[in-house]
Amino acid sequence: MNFIIAGVLAPLAYFLLRLFFKSLVMSFLDKAKAQSGVKEMVSCCSCGVFIDKNDAIKKSDQYYCEKKECLSNV
Ligand SMILES: [Zn+2]
Repeated sequence: MNFIIAGVLAPLAYFLLRLFFKSLVMSFLDKAKAQSGVKEMVSCCSCGVFIDKNDAIKKSDQYYCEKKECLSNV
């Protein structure tokens, strides 16, 4: 019985571990790619979310995201 468990669970565990590490590496690569592409990030003064400086709306020396509720607070 044990060899069945080992024969089924071990490859399954190996497969899941590989999947896990692969997604880990992929997300790491995605992050590195995103960081190399983005020049400057600013945080919204209203909700604190980080946005690309190019996409941010600047009002009286403070940055805001595109959300309606954030802009209406200005
Ligand atoms: Zn905001």
